[in-house]
Amino acid sequence: MNHDDLTELQQDLDNAKHVVFLTGAGVSTHSGIPDYRSKNGIYNGVQESPETILSESTLYNRPEFFYHFVMNNMYFPDAKPNLIHEKIAQICNEKGDLITQNIDRLDTKAGNKHVTEFHGNLYNIYCTKCHQPVSYDKYAQGYIHQNCGGIIRPGIVLYGESINPDTLNKSVNVMQKSDLIIISGTSFVVYPFAQLLAYRKEGAKIYSINKTEIPAPGVKKIIGDALDAFKQLN
Ligand SMILES: [Zn+2]
Repeated sequence: MNHDDLTELQQDLDNAKHVVFLTGAGVSTHSGIPDYRSKNGIYNGVQESPETILSESTLYNRPEFFYHFVMNNMYFPDAKPNLIHEKIAQICNEKGDLITQNIDRLDTKAGNKHVTEFHGNLYNIYCTKCHQPVSYDKYAQGYIHQNCGGIIRPGIVLYGESINPDTLNKSVNVMQKSDLIIISGTSFVVYPFAQLLAYRKEGAKIYSINKTEIPAPGVKKIIGDALDAFKQLN
């Protein structure tokens, strides 16, 4: 990791009027939450990708398979926020916003009051038939709603589903008012999340703190582990 880059980021952070963080799975792996995009499920002896499994079609046509995949690979109710969540929360509560692809609720647990969950949240669980909210503890017991027999689902955006329009509007507004953009823990290839950069304020500075380069132009890249980088920021 280049220290001059970190010093420059610290200066830009100190001078920024409004900061936006764009984060992904790499921020939560330090809390023991694996990136579910790297998991595959096995069904009828065939390996299937998360894109296939986490779709509306699988939810309704193969609900048991869907349920076991999310329960075994995505829910970590005892996970705790790490230093990255905490530092982002501290900065956001002072002068910023977070737009995250993460659905694990750890940013909210870290006390961040300015969180936009771009893809929803695993713990916002409801019945697809009667639309009643369902607690995690109930969902952990089974996917069929006892009250009505409907299929219970997590309030996350499945592949093929659209981003909530209010979430999209809010995210665009945040992008337009931020003069510093910090991307971390995401390969930045998931659309439309990656398109948010197109709404940035003119002259906004953009940094990425990632283990690998992200395919976005005009970005100052700090290559290295996000936890190491955030440890060194004030
Ligand atoms: Zn129901």
